[in-house]
Amino acid sequence: MTTPPHVLVTGAGPGGLTLARVLQRHGIAVTVLEREADITTRDQGGTLDMQRDSGQVALASAGLLEEFLRVSRPEGQDMRMLAPDGSVLIDERAAPGELFNPEIDRGDLRALLLGSLAPGTVRWGTRLDRVEHRDDGGLDAVLAGPPDGTGPGTREHVTADLVVGADGARSRVRPLLSAATPSYTGVTFVELRVTPASFPGLEALVGRGGMTTRTAGRALFCQRLGDGSARVYAGFRRPPGWAAEHGLTTTAGVLDDPAAARAVLLTAFAGFAPELRELVVRSDDRIVERPLEMLPVGHRWDPVPGVTLIGDAAHLMSPFSGQGANSAMLDAADLAREVAATPHDLAGAVARYEATMFPRAEHNAAGAAQGLERFFSAEAAADPVAVFAEAMAEVGAAGAYGDAGGTGPAAARRTG
Ligand SMILES: Cc1cc2nc3c(=O)[nH]c(=O)nc-3n(C[C@H](O)[C@H](O)[C@H](O)COP(=O)(O)OP(=O)(O)OC[C@H]3O[C@@H](n4cnc5c(N)ncnc54)[C@H](O)[C@@H]3O)c2cc1C
Repeated sequence: MTTPPHVLVTGAGPGGLTLARVLQRHGIAVTVLEREADITTRDQGGTLDMQRDSGQVALASAGLLEEFLRVSRPEGQDMRMLAPDGSVLIDERAAPGELFNPEIDRGDLRALLLGSLAPGTVRWGTRLDRVEHRDDGGLDAVLAGPPDGTGPGTREHVTADLVVGADGARSRVRPLLSAATPSYTGVTFVELRVTPASFPGLEALVGRGGMTTRTAGRALFCQRLGDGSARVYAGFRRPPGWAAEHGLTTTAGVLDDPAAARAVLLTAFAGFAPELRELVVRSDDRIVERPLEMLPVGHRWDPVPGVTLIGDAAHLMSPFSGQGANSAMLDAADLAREVAATPHDLAGAVARYEATMFPRAEHNAAGAAQGLERFFSAEAAADPVAVFAEAMAEVGAAGAYGDAGGTGPAAARRTG
């Protein structure tokens, strides 16, 4: 082993960047491989709530909690629930000073974490194809060439003492540890974006935070972002292939014909109030199909020297626990702490991390699976307020993982 150890992380998402930051705070060398060319390569997506018992704990380990609280949006905790006819069922506003789970745009979170790293930590435009064992017991990272898929693959000898897969749902590190692959949950989200300019009634309809409305098997979720725009997720319980089912095509998940996609969505939400349908009518042309996938609840593996996983790579789950990014970051903080505690016993550090992470992930994944079923159930459509109250009551009964899992307010906001 090199002294001190060198850690190679695949993936510059919330998990990988948090890991890099906390390791660097402990003086441990780390390199992050990221397939995207830079932080501007893709639309950074919607907003994340950072929970006091998970994401905020990780941010504190990263020394970034104060800065997070400065740039996050406590008002994003507001929650509205509407009936499909537009009547208001719940209109909750965050109390002044409430910091249980303030929101931050994904792009802002990524920028916060990136800005805290030593220059050159992230190798952009570097796509890992696979990790292989060498005859001498070391590991080879095999890079897949430029992110656009052109050019020959490059075989690169990794000098790392520990390889961490933080590369999300389709992890290229996971096969070293487990044969598990993600499966479809039965629910697809279609993501749209509206702005106050395109929809002047946005604030009145959605408020400052999140809004949901549903009928059996169909729902609209709406979240305000820092720039005043909103992400809208039209959720359906459908067999896989929503777009293809309607004769629509996609390129990397983006619908090729947004007008046709809107027409299909408006048919699906025909019974909803005109102002709710306006969220579809007034959306911009970037419409994305997101089939929700999950790894098996309780996914785990036998130890393999020099390799582990964090975040979605380890425990991909639907967003119905509200814990995906939060737990990716908590995994990262836990792993970094263990590595820093015994830098010359990485096997021990990984074993202690996995012993903490496995049961937590199982608890959260079970909550996400249960939350998804509950959200789209006929019972919840018939009486969403009662189901919301039930979910909130479970908050008080949250168990070993505090608010983590499918029982916390974030989960209740999604599942209620
Ligand atoms: C609609 C929706 C809403 C959500 N809402 C919430 C929420 O409110 N709260 C919450 O906590 N979670 C939420 N989640 C879940 C959350 O987005 C994920 O759990 C979180 O992003 C996982 O972080 P990660 O770092 O493990 O992986 P990712 O964010 O997936 O990051 C992985 C990184 O690895 C890179 N990468 C992948 N493959 C390679 C490769 N081969 N080589 C190099 N780099 C690679 C990717 O480009 C990416 O940058 C939501 C998810 C969805 C779909």
